[in-house]
Amino acid sequence: MNEELKVSKIKNGTVIDHITAGMAPIVLRILGIGKGCSDTVIVAMNVKSHQIGLKDMVKVENRALAQETVKKIALVAPHATVNIIKDYKVAQKFKVELPSELIGVVRCPNRNCITNSGERVSSYFTVESKDPLALRCHYCEVLVDGASVDILL
Ligand SMILES: [Zn+2]
Repeated sequence: MNEELKVSKIKNGTVIDHITAGMAPIVLRILGIGKGCSDTVIVAMNVKSHQIGLKDMVKVENRALAQETVKKIALVAPHATVNIIKDYKVAQKFKVELPSELIGVVRCPNRNCITNSGERVSSYFTVESKDPLALRCHYCEVLVDGASVDILL
């Protein structure tokens, strides 16, 4: 990491590192960060990384991530790492991980799918491949890839 990024530390919150380059804006949407957010948010895009070439990074003050949020981030940034920061130090660090099943996380693109019928049926996808992403709808069996994944926000 270069010096400039080291300087912009947060006191308490979450640092999401090794985000797939270009995905930081989507991660911000998943985090619900936009107008009205008063906490400090630091976004870095297209930073050099030894591991994945170029990466994005998001630092959010005073924020812990719900499990659902981590799953959503794993959908768009399968190599992301989450660092929980307490008093400027990394208190906990883990890699995002996509579970084998996603319930109520992704919208099915098939209009005729029962999950889009207005019935109270949550979307239900099984993860056939994590990277590249391939999800199969449990009900209509449509296949969704990374480019067409529609995350329920
Ligand atoms: Zn479906």
